[in-house]
Amino acid sequence: MDTNGTGNYEIIIVGAGPAGQTAALYAGRSLIPTLVLEKGIPGGQLWNTAEVEDYPGFEHIMGPDLADKIQQHAQKFGATFETDEVVSISADGDDRVVRTAAGKEYRAPAVIVTVGGEARKLGVPGEEELAGKGVSYCAVCDGAFFEGADIAVVGGGDSAVEEGTFLTRYGRKVNLIHRREDYRAQPILVEQMRATGKVDELLNKVVEEVHGPEGKVSHLTLRDTESGEQSELKVNAVFPFIGFTPHSDIFDPDIASRIELDDEGHIKTDDAMRTSVPGVFAAGDVRSQFVRQITNAVGDATTAALAAHQYVEKLKHARSKQAA
Ligand code: NAP
Repeated sequence: MDTNGTGNYEIIIVGAGPAGQTAALYAGRSLIPTLVLEKGIPGGQLWNTAEVEDYPGFEHIMGPDLADKIQQHAQKFGATFETDEVVSISADGDDRVVRTAAGKEYRAPAVIVTVGGEARKLGVPGEEELAGKGVSYCAVCDGAFFEGADIAVVGGGDSAVEEGTFLTRYGRKVNLIHRREDYRAQPILVEQMRATGKVDELLNKVVEEVHGPEGKVSHLTLRDTESGEQSELKVNAVFPFIGFTPHSDIFDPDIASRIELDDEGHIKTDDAMRTSVPGVFAAGDVRSQFVRQITNAVGDATTAALAAHQYVEKLKHARSKQAA
């Protein structure tokens, strides 16, 4: 079903974060020809996650190590992994058509979309210009560059609190800047952060500008959300962890006009991970859901793989009946 002559796939998985890797594992075990397309290194957000302490069976593991372990496991069951960026997903009759940046076109009756998303930006002056020069969205990648430095982390969710705690390993001090008084983060994570004794919590504050007159971050302008007062904070680095923008804009207009998204752009599914377009399934951070944990990403991907398998089998059965 692949017109490119590069395989005869029945399921194509787009993205190889924990959801895509798990879908590959289950589709592979179902002995259904499966292709996984991933633009970077398999593991997705695990590469931006320092420590993982809530994945059953691993009391403590670094995100990249868990990514490697899941990948090795997934590859055992026969899915084909290709490094290539998917630029569009469209429909042609019963075929779902996946086109890549390398100019390839793959066809299969079922596609599982596990493309995740990307770090939401603060959208303030200086942020873009100083990206990679003190502005970073990945503590595990860049934390070590700021040994003994003053670091700012922005956000009040699990990521900000967890990654802020991790950054206390390197920073002289971590300033956690949050726009409200209450955290969205789980209380246990807030407790762990406070126990380091190295975090200053700057509450009811937002970042208005990132400054770096000499080409690297030197200070921030903050605004108090209650008094409106502005202040300056000297830091060498700022790590915004303010949420996620899903990559649900991957569909051609034909599918885009039919696929249901929630208000934030996440793909809606039913409990079998079926989207509103037959043959298109979704799991992981791109999917509309109550929580975004590694555990539910892998659980939902399991469901998606098994549901996609069933869909393909039903389609083949209907086709063979028609042909008879
Ligand atoms: P999140 O839960 O959406 O939290 C984003 C935080 O950033 C919120 O505190 C929000 O403030 C703040 N924020 C949003 N836009 C902002 C802006 N423009 N300026 C300043 N602050 C802004 O995102 P997340 O922490 O990345 O987590 C994403 C998902 O992954 C969540 O479901 C989370 O539970 C999960 N996760 C779990 C773990 C874990 O279990 N160990 C670790 C990481 C992530 P408000 O609170 O005022 O809205």
